[in-house]
Order: sequence, then C-alpha cells, then structure tokens
Amino acid sequence: MNYNEIHVIKGEGINVVYHYKTFTMMVVKDEVCQILEALKRGYSVIQISKEAKYSENDVMSVIQFIEEKISKNENYLPQQNSNNNRVIDRITLHVSNDCNLRCRYCYALGGNYNQDRAFMNKQTANDFVDFCINHFDQINRIVFFGGEPMLNIEIMKYICNLFKNNFSSGRLSQMPEFGIITNGTILNPEIISFLKENITSLTVSIDGPKDINDENRVYSNGKGSYETIKQFIKTVKSETKIPIIYEATYTRQHIEKQYKSKDIHNFMLNEFGIKGVIVEEESLEINRILDYWQNYDYKMIAENNFENMPIGFWSILKSIAGKQSRKICPVMKRIFSISSNGYIFPCHMLAGNTNNNLGNIKAQNFFNQRTLYKSSEFIIDLQDNPKCNGCWCQYLCGGCAVHQFYNKQQKKFQKKPNSELCEINKQHIAQIILMIAALRREPLYWEKLMAKAKERQMQL
Ligand code: SF4
Ligand code: SF4
Repeated sequence: MNYNEIHVIKGEGINVVYHYKTFTMMVVKDEVCQILEALKRGYSVIQISKEAKYSENDVMSVIQFIEEKISKNENYLPQQNSNNNRVIDRITLHVSNDCNLRCRYCYALGGNYNQDRAFMNKQTANDFVDFCINHFDQINRIVFFGGEPMLNIEIMKYICNLFKNNFSSGRLSQMPEFGIITNGTILNPEIISFLKENITSLTVSIDGPKDINDENRVYSNGKGSYETIKQFIKTVKSETKIPIIYEATYTRQHIEKQYKSKDIHNFMLNEFGIKGVIVEEESLEINRILDYWQNYDYKMIAENNFENMPIGFWSILKSIAGKQSRKICPVMKRIFSISSNGYIFPCHMLAGNTNNNLGNIKAQNFFNQRTLYKSSEFIIDLQDNPKCNGCWCQYLCGGCAVHQFYNKQQKKFQKKPNSELCEINKQHIAQIILMIAALRREPLYWEKLMAKAKERQMQL
C-alpha cells in the first residue's frame, strides 16, 4: 500500500481519509489519522506502537480497515481519456475585433486585444470553414465572440450559411451548433431573425442591477449599458426560444456595495428569469475563493436547499460519486480560439498575444504542422507534470488552464502550476470533501442533496 496516495483531512468534529486514486472517502477517528500520518511519514508498525502508544494490533487493524475500503474501489482507477485530435468541443471565433462598450475591467482592452479594430472579412470566413472541414471530423460548437460579435452580423450569417451549404453538399458530415457571447447592447430585426435561424445558445454579459452594472459596463462616454441590456434580454426572450444565460463579472465594486454572488443570482432570476455564472474579476479570485469557508454551516446550507454552494462543489461531488477525474480546461485538445484575422490561440483570453500564436488557419498551424510547435507548451495535462503528478487532488483539480498554468510575466503557459493558486485549491477541495462527508453522515441532508443533484440533472 502506498500511503502517499492517501490524504488525511482534519475538520471541525470530522476527519476524512481520502484515497485519491480510487476516490475513496472514509470518515475516521483522530487515532486513525494519527496512525496514517505516521505511516505516511514512513514509520513502521513497531515504531508507531512504541512512540504513539498504540498496540501493534491496533495499528494493524487500521491498516487492514483502510486497505479493505480502498480495495473495494480499485476497479475504478481513473482511465486517461484517449484524445481524438479530430473532435473539437468548442471553437471561439472572434468575428469582430472591436466593441461598442469600454468596460472598465476589460481584459481585451476595449475588445481589440491590442490589435487593430477590425472585423473578420469574407476571405477569412471562407478560410475558416475550409480549415474546419479539412482538419476535423466533428466540431460540436462554434461560439461567435468579439469584441462585440453583433457589430459583424454579416459575417456571422455568411459563416452559418457556408456551413449549411457544405453540409447539404456532403462536404461536411456534421453541423456544429452555433452560440454567441454578446454584451447585449445591439439588437434589430435583422439580428433577431439571424438568432432565430442559427443560434442555439446565447450568453449575455451583465453584472447585476443597474447601479452595479453601470459602474463598469459603460460606453466610451461613460454612460451605463444596463437599460439597453435589459431591453435586449426581454426582447430576445419574447421573440425567440433561444436559451439565454448571463455571465456577470464580480468586482471590487460589488464588495463595496455589499452585493454577494447570491444577490446577483436572485436578481437575474427574479428580473429576467435567467440563470448564469458569476466569474470573479481576476485580481479578486485567488483571495476570495477561501472566504466561503469562514463562516459556513453545512446544516444551514442544507436547510437553504444548497442554493449557494462553493465554487466547484457540484463538479467535485459528481467526480467523487462517479469516480471520474475532473479535467483542466482542454485548451488545444478540444478547445481553441481564432482571431478575426485567422490566427489560432489556445484560449480567447490569450488572443492577440504573439507568444501564444499557433499559426494561421490558411497557412501552417498547430493542427497541420505539429512539429513546428511545442505541444507540451500548450497542452495542459494534470497528470503530465511532476508537481500535479504527486498531488493528492490531481483527479479533483480542474478549471481554467490560463489561471492555473499561464505565466503572465512571461506571457506563456508553463509546465508548473501557479503555486499560490495550488495551495488555495487544495484547501478549497479539502473543505468540499469534508462538507460532502458531513452531509453524508446525516441521511436527511444527504437525501436532500441527492434530490438537488437530480434537479441539476446530475447523474450520480
Ligand atoms: S492543486 Fe496544483 S499541483 Fe495539485 S493537481 Fe491542482 S494544479 Fe496540480
Ligand atoms: S482556459 Fe480558462 S478562460 Fe480559456 S477557455 Fe478554458 S476555462 Fe475559459
């Protein structure tokens, strides 16, 4: 038995032993923790019984108990996914390099990613469709993005029609779905009919009620965008059946105005009847992730029907229950982004940055001349770097590849994860495991949690 595969998590009134390779969780007493920690440090049974005053039999029965529990789950050792390079989950397509807003926190510097304010043209659109057909067997989703994509409605229509024509002629074997991420400030009858005809998912950026949205999401003259977005959401909802979700950026101003994430969720649900995600402004994220655990009470959380769960909770629960590894965002394996002039980037957040340019769709690029690019610099695998490979949460860690592996000073991905974020991640995941164990000890809460998971269409 390799005791380094075991992680001991001590919480208030509860201890959990977690075997990361088999996703085995065991609630144990303090003595078991103590014995396991000694075994992890390399002490023998005799040494432990002498120094910690347990009998050899006690130590042996702890070892036997742990080994039995783990061996029951050994069939579930996570498999590495085979990677079919010709299947892509999502391409983010920057059809406009310009934006009509100047949001104060915009990482894309007003939409243009440090490049000229340009739109994708028909030639690049043709090249894009040819590139897709020539390089991949299946693309599940193409997401129109910007800047603001609605500024270039012509090219979006053109691209959708090109895909349809190629599909009808048999050159393309499967149609992708089309989605759009928009700031929700441009709408007219032409756009509505384009949306109805082509778009299956729409994400609108809005930061919450008017007073907070208009702090940051502003036009170049400083005027807020809330009223226009409000009209946009209401019109799209009434005139189309497209599922809309929102994406809000949580900022320092939210904290100052005492808006919590749940206030934003509740507002969006009550005012517009839509659900969505809240991403933290980058500078906040690292420090705030552990805030959740400061005053949390799992009983209250269960009483509130698990409305406000910590980041990653549902996905970690699913991973442990289904004994399936979580994944870091699969940049360049299943996801990438294309700029308005046809350059390929691992992620839309890195578009325009020459260090991360992986060639052009109409010339040599990462997909047709792989040897020219160091795949190892762009393909991130948690099990493929020494730090993660020795980490107890390698199968539960996941999330954004840019946050975890991108070195902002050097402007490139690195093999090592960001250490500061790792420590926070590990504490956060350990707390989630303790929370799951605590809920599992109380049949009523557990039943409630399972019902909630079902409501979220999770198969556990
Ligand atoms: S916490 Fe850090 S070291 Fe551990 S798996 Fe995640 S990224 Fe890797
Ligand atoms: S790397 Fe991060 S920002 Fe980029 S697509 Fe993946 S999750 Fe999104």
